[in-house]
Amino acid sequence: MRVDDSGGRRVRVVGDGLAAAATACALLDAGFDTVILSRGSGARARQAAAVEALPAATTHLLGELGLQAELVSAGAVGVNGFENLHAQTPRVLDGTWVHVDRQRLAAECLLEARRRGARLAPAGARSAIDADAAAVVDATGRAARHSRPVGRDGAEVAAVYAGPGRGRARPGRVTRTPAGWAYRLDHPDLTTVGVVAATPAGRRLTPALAAELEIDASAFTQVATRPAGVQWSSRPVEGRRISVGDAALACSPIGGHGVRFGLVSAIAAGAVVNTWATGDYDTATAYYTDLVAAARRRHLTSLVALEDPEGGSAQAPEETPVLDVERHLVFAAEVHRRPANVGGLIVSREVCVLPDDALVRSAGGFDLLLLRDLLRGGATTREATAGLTASGVPEAAASQLLAWALRHSLIRYASPSGTAREVRTPGPN
Ligand SMILES: Cc1cc2nc3c(=O)[nH]c(=O)nc-3n(C[C@H](O)[C@H](O)[C@H](O)COP(=O)(O)OP(=O)(O)OC[C@H]3O[C@@H](n4cnc5c(N)ncnc54)[C@H](O)[C@@H]3O)c2cc1C
Repeated sequence: MRVDDSGGRRVRVVGDGLAAAATACALLDAGFDTVILSRGSGARARQAAAVEALPAATTHLLGELGLQAELVSAGAVGVNGFENLHAQTPRVLDGTWVHVDRQRLAAECLLEARRRGARLAPAGARSAIDADAAAVVDATGRAARHSRPVGRDGAEVAAVYAGPGRGRARPGRVTRTPAGWAYRLDHPDLTTVGVVAATPAGRRLTPALAAELEIDASAFTQVATRPAGVQWSSRPVEGRRISVGDAALACSPIGGHGVRFGLVSAIAAGAVVNTWATGDYDTATAYYTDLVAAARRRHLTSLVALEDPEGGSAQAPEETPVLDVERHLVFAAEVHRRPANVGGLIVSREVCVLPDDALVRSAGGFDLLLLRDLLRGGATTREATAGLTASGVPEAAASQLLAWALRHSLIRYASPSGTAREVRTPGPN
């Protein structure tokens, strides 16, 4: 099927949150004439400021969209560590998280979309789906205005409280409560506390929770309640409408993955709409449907793991394995031909399937299938590193790449085959 391209390269983005702004930027960069349909600054101003914690990977995604400067202008701060008192064995997680007011970040990204040429128009009563456009992006968050019906898992509500900022932000903290769980995120301008339970928590924080979160309860007031269960659109793509961010999949806040998914979906939607306008509708649509379904499966699985007494790793960063230079490595990933995003267009190509169903072809600009060539017949870690550096990868990056590939089971240690091995230098793609 080929999409009706009567709308040429005109697209509409409904909503004005972070996912809307990020998708608008992706579309503008692909040359689309982009109109953002907004309910206006009044509606935006009514949404309470709240600090959110973004895992390090999120900054790379913002970089891909050319939006890293907006983190700075939104006043984001980097904070080392995250205190997980939710786990059976409380622990401090290593890694860096970015603490930022979600509304400020969305507003800065919206400004940047306008600088790149997006026009803002009122989200009128007439359905945007009727618009004569090449594509309509639903970025209306959990309202999922054009993405119904939605499915749900859990119906928790987060009561959000605001208190004074701290010059030196402490690591975020997540903890269990008698009725659910709670978190505290510091920022120099604002401290946010969220209390998540089946029914909204009271207007005042209890002394016990305040002590657990190390805050002064009397300095905090409730500023919002937000739904916090998992929600997903049953049809993230339909015709020329594509849903992004929370409108496609709204995660539970406990994993801290909401913004990351919003950006992943924005980048993917930019490529899908680009492909609709220039190429194969079915391949692009299948790509996006699979991407959202896989993200949902991963998220729901991670929530089940959280309840495992041995697990409990809310906000867990990925651990980096230590490389053993003498051990033998083999390529272990399944490789399938699937739709993939190649330079902003969805095309069918060979990709590696990770154990969590994610599909990857490259990491840090490196074509991962070259690892398959390099490790054909096996090689020691030292030989593999040498092979990578011989093909132009800096030595430190080669070690990082092998560690990343080990962590994601793309490669694994194996006993030497006993046969003579040839370590090949990967050729051009
Ligand atoms: C309590 C809580 C804490 C969280 N903490 C984190 C965290 O620490 N880290 C993290 O990564 N994620 C976190 N999240 C998730 C994160 O906030 C969301 O995933 C993210 O904000 C979604 O962005 P969005 O642009 O898709 O939706 P939204 O930010 O909801 O934006 C949607 C926009 O669309 C507008 N809109 C709605 N209906 C219409 C309409 N009909 N027409 C036009 N416009 C419309 C709305 O006004 C809004 O501006 C948290 C979520 C909750 C509930």
